[in-house]
Amino acid sequence: MARKFIVRHKVHDKHNKVETFIPVGIVEGDHPGPTLAVISGVHATEYAAHDGAARFWFGLNEKEVRGRIFVVLCADVVAQAAHTMYTNPVDGKNLNRVWPGKKDGTLTEVIAHTITQEVVRHAGAVVDCHGGEYDEDIDLFTITHSAGNAAVDKKARDLAVACGLPFAEVIDIRGGPIGAGTGAGEAIRAGIPAITLECGGRGLKIKRHVNGTTSAIVNAARHLGVLPGEVQPWAGAPVVIDHGVMLRTKEAGIYAPVTTAGAWIEASALFSRVYDFDGALLEEIRAPEAGVVLDVIVGRTIKANAFCGKIGVL
Ligand SMILES: [Zn+2]
Repeated sequence: MARKFIVRHKVHDKHNKVETFIPVGIVEGDHPGPTLAVISGVHATEYAAHDGAARFWFGLNEKEVRGRIFVVLCADVVAQAAHTMYTNPVDGKNLNRVWPGKKDGTLTEVIAHTITQEVVRHAGAVVDCHGGEYDEDIDLFTITHSAGNAAVDKKARDLAVACGLPFAEVIDIRGGPIGAGTGAGEAIRAGIPAITLECGGRGLKIKRHVNGTTSAIVNAARHLGVLPGEVQPWAGAPVVIDHGVMLRTKEAGIYAPVTTAGAWIEASALFSRVYDFDGALLEEIRAPEAGVVLDVIVGRTIKANAFCGKIGVL
């Protein structure tokens, strides 16, 4: 008999004397097939991604599943309860930089280790659901990685395209700024095709971004054959971007972007300004190349030398 149930994996940080749990939804189908792992809640204020993954879980009909589906319903319950951006409030670490984790590490590392052992290593593919944090604006795109194994790299890229979000970025785990230590990057390094969804931001749960997350997971499941049906791209065939350009501030101050996620920006056009607290203009940040705006920081203030946006060059 097909089964749909939830397991709560205990997590213990001996260094900080903190105990918590990770809720994981599991569907076991009647027929043999691949295993898909979906992870949500790695970052605590990416609400559209959390809702999109939850919507996928609640909508799952176990009778339709061939093989198995794991859905990590909330990777970091402690960070989510505290609404901390990027990092866990107990150890200050970023869960998307510590994979595959450490058995005897601090909380964030134990969470990564537990999900690696209980979920990721059983999977034929991994979909990690992210978006912009509370201070960050993102529309809809996918990140995957190349790690030097041509067969796995191709499967990861095919999965990124199959999930159907408008843009897909492939980052070399050996050189890119976002690769080593990420959930998707380390899964690919271990031979498992994996992607990171990037949907929504600003603490909002806009339907476009919630639905974008759910639709991308369903497409990944169909692509793998764990759910029936054809892959349905969000808006035509996805574009695999040539490379991403990360923008950084030089100055600290009030941050004022003049563009939005999803917009097109020409080379040398204004991306954002940084002002001093007295209103003086400190810096203008311009697009080094033309492309689609994938990510914009929208927090009111910003540090010097901080990530402040990303452009996808086609
Ligand atoms: Zn994230």
